[in-house]
Amino acid sequence: MKSIKDILQLGNPLLYEVSEPVLQSELSLVPEWVNDLDNVLQEVRAQYKFGRAIAAPQLGIKKRLIYLNIDKPVVIINPHLSQLSYKMIELWDDCMCFPNLLVKVERHKSLTIKYLDQMWQQQEWNLKDDLAELLQHEYDHLDGKLCTMRAIDNKSFKLRRID
Ligand SMILES: [Zn+2]
Repeated sequence: MKSIKDILQLGNPLLYEVSEPVLQSELSLVPEWVNDLDNVLQEVRAQYKFGRAIAAPQLGIKKRLIYLNIDKPVVIINPHLSQLSYKMIELWDDCMCFPNLLVKVERHKSLTIKYLDQMWQQQEWNLKDDLAELLQHEYDHLDGKLCTMRAIDNKSFKLRRID
């Protein structure tokens, strides 16, 4: 099973690659991927005291798969974002690929995400504020984008201590 040591670190070229859609024929592989994602997310929370979601490419799994666990686990396959609000919000973003770096970014305040669940059923979810910015962050990973690439300006970086 993958562990926190398997998270790709900032600078790893794999983080900048565009991931492939999950095929229906690969659905049987999803539980194992989700198991890895869940295990790593739990280890991150224990060690870094943050982490609500993880994208498969962060573990070198080049698939359009996101795993969220806030109140309950949510598996998001091949997501599509729409209804991106004109209104933006500004925040200090973090990422488990560089846990002690914060980056100030702008995100859409609300959006709709359409995706397939682990039963290959189409789902639709309207999100705003913290969930909207979270899903934009995770979706970016599927396209090989990191929040460092969305920094508002040259001063949009700060370090934090992780004990
Ligand atoms: Zn991230």
